[in-house]
Amino acid sequence: MMYEGKTTRVALIGTGFVGTSYAFSLLNQELVNELVLIDVNKEKAEGEARDLNHGLPFGAPMRIWAGDYPDCKDADIVVIAAGANQAPGETRLDLIDKNTAIFKTIVSSVMGSGFDGIFIVATNPVDVLTYATWKFSGLPKERVIGSGTILDTARFRYLLSDYFNVDSRNVHGYILGEHGDTELPVWSHATIGSRPIMSLIKDKPEAKEDLDALFVNVRDAAYHIINRKGATYYGIAMGLVRLTRAIIRNENSILTISTLLEGEYGLDDLYIGVPAIVNNNGIREIIELDLDQTELDQLHHSAKTLKEAMKPVFQH
Ligand code: NAD
Repeated sequence: MMYEGKTTRVALIGTGFVGTSYAFSLLNQELVNELVLIDVNKEKAEGEARDLNHGLPFGAPMRIWAGDYPDCKDADIVVIAAGANQAPGETRLDLIDKNTAIFKTIVSSVMGSGFDGIFIVATNPVDVLTYATWKFSGLPKERVIGSGTILDTARFRYLLSDYFNVDSRNVHGYILGEHGDTELPVWSHATIGSRPIMSLIKDKPEAKEDLDALFVNVRDAAYHIINRKGATYYGIAMGLVRLTRAIIRNENSILTISTLLEGEYGLDDLYIGVPAIVNNNGIREIIELDLDQTELDQLHHSAKTLKEAMKPVFQH
């Protein structure tokens, strides 16, 4: 569907903190030729397009404009970052009603354009809204992807790299589950330079306590940041561009995204964060890790929490 030399278009819906940080990061990575900005606040989208365009002489040629839903027709990817964000003290699941209602309109407008590409969803609660996008759009599950725990996994790798003083790109480990309060770390498969982290700290009980605290900082990172600056956006923006690159460049990259489970991990009929291989068809394959019993129980608890939260909206 997408290849070098062809015009590639991303349509971004929602030009708030997350959307515009994504746009700025996309512009700097020279990944696509066209970026259309869509927001219910048209003035905001227009202002952002002008500002971004003024950076082009310092980067590479690209067409950026404030547009509308018909522009989604020729988009390879539609990224949705529209809707309410968490106020201080609010959980992601508290946003379910308002953002599902917004998504009904957005997704039907995108599909009304004739769009036939891949959706990337970032709006919270992201697992629920990706499920909603899949249902409302009627697209195959492979082509509806949520950012899931892509950011949480990045936070995990960054904090571990800081703790062990090793480049975060050499730290491998995943956060699975809800992008939210019930997510879990997969310690049984976390490694640095192929060495399992659990073996590295085997005889150091204080290090285990440090790592437990480190995970709490991963899980609660959004609260810590929102209390200090009102919103989080740079990390997720980089994660969304990473996902865009895996799709556009057909990278077959393993990323922890939100995808529909149909029996994997003993779960079905929900979108939740797990590692998967991503290429230009969307999700190529879900990776089923051999979790230990505690991790599997935590994943099932996370899934149950999501399903409970979705019940009033989707009558599960
Ligand atoms: P924001 O308030 O800055 O921006 C939201 C934008 O959506 C605004 O420009 C608003 O006008 C627009 N909008 C609202 N309703 C719309 C509609 N019906 N159609 C088109 N546009 C509409 O919020 P933000 O900080 O950019 O956050 C956006 C979302 O991303 C939130 O739900 C937030 O929780 C989520 N988020 C997700 C992650 C993640 O890891 N997935 C990380 C950070 C934030």
